[in-house]
Amino acid sequence: MITKRPVIIGIVSVGKLGTLIPKVVSASIQGVLDVPVDIIGKIEIPEESFLLDRRQYDAGIILKALESVSSNHACIVGITSVDICIPVFTYVFGEAQLGGKTAIVSTARLHRGEIGEAVPENVFYERIVKVVLHETGHVFSLYHCDDENCLMKFSSRLDMLDRLPILFCDRCLFLLRRFVRLAEKSI
Ligand SMILES: [Zn+2]
Ligand SMILES: [Zn+2]
Repeated sequence: MITKRPVIIGIVSVGKLGTLIPKVVSASIQGVLDVPVDIIGKIEIPEESFLLDRRQYDAGIILKALESVSSNHACIVGITSVDICIPVFTYVFGEAQLGGKTAIVSTARLHRGEIGEAVPENVFYERIVKVVLHETGHVFSLYHCDDENCLMKFSSRLDMLDRLPILFCDRCLFLLRRFVRLAEKSI
């Protein structure tokens, strides 16, 4: 008998976002982590997350809002086109609850290169996938990794992000798969 694996990762659009990005992201997560992924749907951007003085959105408030989107998923990844930040950084590509439930990724700064030039579409999508996988790693309790060829390496700039392959190092992948299996059992 084949038992169906529970779907433990759900993708949610936060605010206006095309339909292609969630599809690309879910296919990539399934490919890299070997785990079923759902596209759950969409929520509005929480109004209270808008920071008038910074003209940005507070990632922490969005993470909190995502928690109640589904009780059937161990990990909920939101994707948004608006610029997000946390108090100590001027901007972030993504943010996650370490060992928690939710992550948020912003595409706002992934369209362009360091000097403002537009980047090819494949680079844009690769960047989104890399940030999503990195933040998903945090949700499953992974810390940053020193390996230059591992997605858990911290990238604060686009050139750092672009240098990374779409891969985890052996150690991070081992840990991640173990945490994913644990989450599957708890659902
Ligand atoms: Zn990180
Ligand atoms: Zn690693």
